[in-house]
Amino acid sequence: MSEPDLFESENSALAHAKAVFCDVDAGEDTYRNTLGQLISYYERLMRETRRLIRRSDREELEMNRLNHRLQELAQELEYRATHDTLTGALNRGAVIDRAGTALARGSLVLIVLDIDHFKRLNDAFGHPVGDAVICGVTASLKDTVGTEDAIGRVGGEEFVALLPELTLDEATRLAERMRAVIAAHRFPTPVACSVTASFGVSWTPQGRTFEHAYCRADEALYEAKRGGRNRVMVAPAI
Ligand code: GH3
Ligand code: MG
Ligand code: MG
Repeated sequence: MSEPDLFESENSALAHAKAVFCDVDAGEDTYRNTLGQLISYYERLMRETRRLIRRSDREELEMNRLNHRLQELAQELEYRATHDTLTGALNRGAVIDRAGTALARGSLVLIVLDIDHFKRLNDAFGHPVGDAVICGVTASLKDTVGTEDAIGRVGGEEFVALLPELTLDEATRLAERMRAVIAAHRFPTPVACSVTASFGVSWTPQGRTFEHAYCRADEALYEAKRGGRNRVMVAPAI
C-alpha cells in the first residue's frame, strides 16, 4: 500500500498553477484566482510550519529535561548501589571493588576498626541511639581522613579506611589520630560518655587480593581487642 500524500491538495493547486502559468491565453481572472489560491496555500503552509517548529522546540526542551532527570537517576542509583544507607559510607561491595582496583594498580593500606563494647550501648540506650553513635563515628572518620570516599562500613559497627596513597607509617599515625578523635568525641545525652574503637592496620603489595589485606588487618584488630581495646595494632609486614 502506498503512503498517503500529505500535500495532496497543495500538489494539485501547484499543478493547476503550473498549467495556468503555461497557458498564455488563460485570461486575467484565471491568473488572479490561481494566484489567490496559491497565496492561501502558502499562508497555510507557513502557519503549519510555525506550529510544527514550536511543537518541536517544546519536545526538544522536554527531551532535554527527561535526559537530565535520567542522568540524575543513574547517579542516584550508582550512589545507592555503592553506599550504606545509614551512614553514607561505602558499602561492603564497593569497598571490595575499590580495594581490588587499588591493588591492581599498586600497594594498599587498609585500616579496619570496630567500636568497642557496642552491644552494651545498644542494650543500655536502644538501637536508635546505637545508630546515632555509628553515624557519629562515621562523621569523625570522614573528618579525620579528609576524603569522602575512603571510608566504608563493612559490618554493623565495623569500618575500613582504604588508603592506596599512604605508607604504613603514615597510615599508622592516621589510625592513631582516628582513634584519638573518636575517644575524645562527646556523644550527646543519653550516651554522654566516650565511645572507643580498636584498630588494625595492614600494608599489602600490588597484585594481592582484598581478602588478604582484610584478613591481616582483622587479625591486628583482634590483637588490639585482646590487648585491652581503644588501641591501634599493625599487621606484620609480608
Ligand atoms: P567488641 O568490643 O568485642 O567489639 O564488643 P561489641 O559489643 O562491640 O561487639 P559485638 O559483636 O558483641 O556486638 C556488636 C553489636 O552491634 C551487636 C549488634 O546488635 C549491633 N549492631 C550491628 N549492626 C547494627 C546497627 O546497624 N545498628 C545498631 N544500633 N546496632 C547494630
Ligand atoms: Mg564491636
Ligand atoms: Mg564487630
